[in-house]
Amino acid sequence: MLGTGCPLANEVMVACIQPLKPGEEKYSFTAMIPLNAKGVTLLSRKSFEYAAVSKFDNPLSIDFDENDCVLCFDDVKVPWERVFVHNDIHMASAQWHAIPTHVYQNYQCQIRFAVKMKFLLGLTRKIAETNGIIAFPPVKETLGQLAAEVSIVDGLIEAMEVSGSMHGEYFVPSKQRLYAASVFSQQLYPKFINSIRELSGGGLIMLPSEESDFANPDLARYITRTQKSPVTDAYGRVKMFKLAWDAIGSEFGSRHLQYEMFYAGANMVTRGHAFRTYDWESAASLVDKFMSSYDSKTKAKNS
Ligand SMILES: Cc1cc2nc3c(=O)[nH]c(=O)nc-3n(C[C@H](O)[C@H](O)[C@H](O)COP(=O)(O)OP(=O)(O)OC[C@H]3O[C@@H](n4cnc5c(N)ncnc54)[C@H](O)[C@@H]3O)c2cc1C
Repeated sequence: MLGTGCPLANEVMVACIQPLKPGEEKYSFTAMIPLNAKGVTLLSRKSFEYAAVSKFDNPLSIDFDENDCVLCFDDVKVPWERVFVHNDIHMASAQWHAIPTHVYQNYQCQIRFAVKMKFLLGLTRKIAETNGIIAFPPVKETLGQLAAEVSIVDGLIEAMEVSGSMHGEYFVPSKQRLYAASVFSQQLYPKFINSIRELSGGGLIMLPSEESDFANPDLARYITRTQKSPVTDAYGRVKMFKLAWDAIGSEFGSRHLQYEMFYAGANMVTRGHAFRTYDWESAASLVDKFMSSYDSKTKAKNS
């Protein structure tokens, strides 16, 4: 439905990831298609990079907007050597799950996610210091909670690697741990962003409109008098809060929230993967083993 990064790419893989049932063969189609093929149209959303004012004002949007678009195909000729799945619902699913495609794809997503979360955690600590609230016990508690959650994200990556297995000559991270991480990270991100907003207060908003305001002596005087911090000067405070807003509140930051919640499918989809791949037999066998260790006295008497 959306092609993230397509405006920057040479080719796109068009495929169906949803499970298909008999009768839906026509949707089982996978091909690699050059984005400049005749008949391909890219309908991009608004460019946040284009709308960015400067590096100082929008430090993330200006460089890291990967953009998303809707792709339209109007009588596009696809040579057969570029078609991998056609009218075959079994292959449509097997290309993701019979080989470790889906695991590899999502494993690198979790590594990306872990780095992003560490960055956000560092930013949150800086916000608390800049705001002068870091010494309050409830603030430390919130930071401790966020730090624990970032450690869990790191720990899940380590767990995927430790409990992975070989697929032929390739090492594949553990599916179970991977899908646990997908479910957890989708739920974590909105909560995490909310905690950052709580610690930030209005500082995210009470910012000069543009970096050029500092160049105007009259405005700079007011900015210096209103942007106070125990750890930095007015310029440092504005710089930090502009970065924070771009990370969590701007159109760019807000798109990231939607991305983390949906890029791997809605949460019900990732929970479905966790359900499908969990080792239920080993969990149920613990219960069976325990239940077989006792019986009611009545049953013992009757048997
Ligand atoms: C920023 C961003 C970038 C993306 N990039 C890509 C990309 O590069 N490539 C790509 O292929 N896709 C991409 N996607 C699309 C993404 O895969 C889908 O958004 C995702 O699969 C969810 O599908 P949907 O948006 O149609 O939501 P829906 O399936 O319509 O879900 C919307 C809500 O309805 C709920 N819901 C839906 N059906 C049911 C039901 N039966 N019972 C109960 N609740 C239900 C869901 O849980 C969810 O909360 C991107 C999405 C975003 C937001």
